[in-house]
Amino acid sequence: MSTKVSKRLAAGANMPAPGEDVLKNTQEAIHAALTRLGYSDTVYELLKEPIRVLTVRIPVRMDDGHTEVFTGYRAQHNDAIGPTKGGIRFHPDVTLDEVKALSIWMSIKCGIFGLPYGGAKGGIVCDPRKLSIHEQERLARGYVRAVSQIVGPAKDIPAPDVYTNPQVMAWMYDEYSRIREYDSPNFITGKPLVLGGSQGREQATALGVVVATREAAAQAGIDLKEARVIVQGFGNVGSNVARILHEMGVKVVGISDANGALYNENGLDIPDLFDKRDSFGVVTTNFSHVISNEELLVKPCDILIPAALENQITEHNARDIQAKLIVEAANGPTTPMADAILEERGILVVPDVLANAGGVTVSYFEWVQNNQGWYWTEDEVNSRLERMMVNAVHNILKTARRYQVSTRLAAYMVGIRPFAEAMRWRGWL
Ligand code: GLU
Repeated sequence: MSTKVSKRLAAGANMPAPGEDVLKNTQEAIHAALTRLGYSDTVYELLKEPIRVLTVRIPVRMDDGHTEVFTGYRAQHNDAIGPTKGGIRFHPDVTLDEVKALSIWMSIKCGIFGLPYGGAKGGIVCDPRKLSIHEQERLARGYVRAVSQIVGPAKDIPAPDVYTNPQVMAWMYDEYSRIREYDSPNFITGKPLVLGGSQGREQATALGVVVATREAAAQAGIDLKEARVIVQGFGNVGSNVARILHEMGVKVVGISDANGALYNENGLDIPDLFDKRDSFGVVTTNFSHVISNEELLVKPCDILIPAALENQITEHNARDIQAKLIVEAANGPTTPMADAILEERGILVVPDVLANAGGVTVSYFEWVQNNQGWYWTEDEVNSRLERMMVNAVHNILKTARRYQVSTRLAAYMVGIRPFAEAMRWRGWL
């Protein structure tokens, strides 16, 4: 066992419960990046927590007439570069610490891609799978009313995240425009096309992940035509990653959803699975032979793409993972303990803040198009995204080599630096 791994074990960092450690881990990552870049502790003090956090209670009239009260959050990490930006998730496990960590990750993504934003994130503690469409609409509108004072096209621009989609964005856009009494398509991204959404936004995160996979596979000496890929998670991102890879002729041997997982070493029928998924990305209920998510992660493959939730790759399974390359489509799928093990085993990791930033990048394109009232073709969107992702991947790999650090630390260094610089120019430091 390397000293790095044993040190972490001794420090008791080996049992992260889902959600529990994400903020602390993120703060440690930022601290390491700022220290490596030579910034003072004051810079860290300003960046370790969001500058603004709002907790709201949202009363929602349920279909049966009773009122239920939901808790929601919006965290804005840093607005030195411009307005903040990031999605809103609907999930029963949402916590304030998780939303704070996710807002910091959004800053890093924006920093890596040079987007004129800081990071933000929102969440509502709820299980949308148990809410009717009308209850979801009232909840979405109630959230916008509750946070309306701190959001807006030049303040903080929301977007979709786990279990939210173009329909939820449309309700939120409508509610915000009513509150402000003027049409504000630039308030939110990930909207339906007919309401000012961007071509390519729905599959943007997935396309970015696939481009990152292609570039990193070349680096790791993996021939995509021969490679076997496992995609964990079959929501918007996971299902589209599997679909695009399949269309490229890459063999997808495993997929999973909240119910279970499917594995076939000869390749799965991805178009069939894609068509069979429900609106929450569940597809395995159609099959009798289903394995668990935990089993799937350690099955034979060359490339593993976690596209579900946080803390999936831990010190309990990191040693058994067979992939040579891991591309993090989800936010925060790997714990720091697992990260150290993967590094020790020489597995190349494309970190979340790099791999999944295609979503916020095309959200930025959407906001630009809304501001200008001038809309781009799908080719324009996709080719701009591809160019930016290729540059970002090579920049991070180069930085990792130059500083002799992991790709994750390199990504944090590249992503955090613009915030330190912007704060200095503004005279905050
Ligand atoms: N929720 C997505 C993410 O985690 C997209 C955010 C956005 O488009 O602003 O990156």
